[in-house]
Amino acid sequence: MTIWNLGSINADYIYALPHLPAPGETLAARTLTTGLGGKGANMSVGCARAGGKTEHIGALGPEGAWMADRLRSYGVGTTHIATLDAPSGHAIIAVEDGGENLILVFPGTNRQIPPAHIEAALAQAAPGDWFLTQNETNHQLEAARLAKARGLRVGYAAAPFDPAAVQAMLPHADFLILNEVEADQLRDATGTPLGELGVADVIVTLGAEGCLWFHDGREESFPALRVTPVDTTGAGDTFTGYILAALDEGMPMPDAIRLATRASALKVTRHGAADAVPTRAEAEAFEG
Ligand code: ADP
Repeated sequence: MTIWNLGSINADYIYALPHLPAPGETLAARTLTTGLGGKGANMSVGCARAGGKTEHIGALGPEGAWMADRLRSYGVGTTHIATLDAPSGHAIIAVEDGGENLILVFPGTNRQIPPAHIEAALAQAAPGDWFLTQNETNHQLEAARLAKARGLRVGYAAAPFDPAAVQAMLPHADFLILNEVEADQLRDATGTPLGELGVADVIVTLGAEGCLWFHDGREESFPALRVTPVDTTGAGDTFTGYILAALDEGMPMPDAIRLATRASALKVTRHGAADAVPTRAEAEAFEG
C-alpha cells in the first residue's frame, strides 16, 4: 500500500560557532553545513528508506526545488509537493563548541499548503493506505478526517506538542507516537492514561531507554540499542518512518519496533537529519 505523509520540509542551515551569540552580538560562524530536515521530510525518508511506497504531501518555494530532488533521491514520491510563490521552510541551527545549540525555525510554505492540494493528493489514496502527519504544517486535522473517510489508517506524531491540536486529532488516529516529554504534556492536558485514549496503538519513545507500546490495555517495553550518540536530531522521526513502513508491509508491531529501534540507533551515530536516515539493509545489519 502507500504511505501518504502530510508534513514539513525544511532546509537546515547548521552553523558551528565558538559560543552561542548574546543579544546584540555579531558573530562569525566557522562553518556552514546545509542539510534536509523538517519532521515531515525526515519521516518520509524513514518510510521510504525502510522500503515503504511513500508519497510526501507538502509545499516548497521556488528556491526549494533541491529539497524535492533530495527527497526523490531517497525514494520519496514528490508529485504532491506544491511549488508556491513564497519562501520554503528553513531552520537556522547554531551549534557552539561542546554541542549546546539554538534553533530558529521559519515555517514558510510548510504552513501555507492549499487545502485543495491536500484533497487532490488524498483523492489518489486507496482504502488500507496509511496517512501520516505531525504538527509542522497546516490543515492536519481536515486532512486526517478526509483520510479516515476514504478508509485510510491514520498515524500521528504529536510533535511539536500543541495540546489543542493533539486532542482534536486523537479521535482520528489509529497510531500515535510521542517522545517522553510530549507524553507527559499529553497526560497533563487530558488527565487520561496513554492506554485509555481510545487510540489502538500508542508508542512513547524514551531516547536511549528505548520505548513503550500501549495496546489492548497492556503496556510492553522495548530496549534501545547501545550506541555512542553524535547527533540525536531526527531519531524519533526515523523511528516513526520505519514503524509506518513496517506496519504497512504487515509486520507485527513488536517486530516493527525492533526494526525501528535499529534504524534510529544507527541514525544517532551520524550527523544530520533526513540525510542521515539509514537504509533498510543498514538498519537490519546494525547491532549497536
Ligand atoms: P525524539 O527524537 O522524538 O525526541 P527519542 O529521543 O525518544 O525521540 O528517540 C527515538 C528512538 O530513537 C528511541 O526510542 C530509541 O530507539 C532511539 N534512540 C534515541 N536516542 C538514542 C540513543 N542515545 N541511543 C540509542 N538509541 C536511541
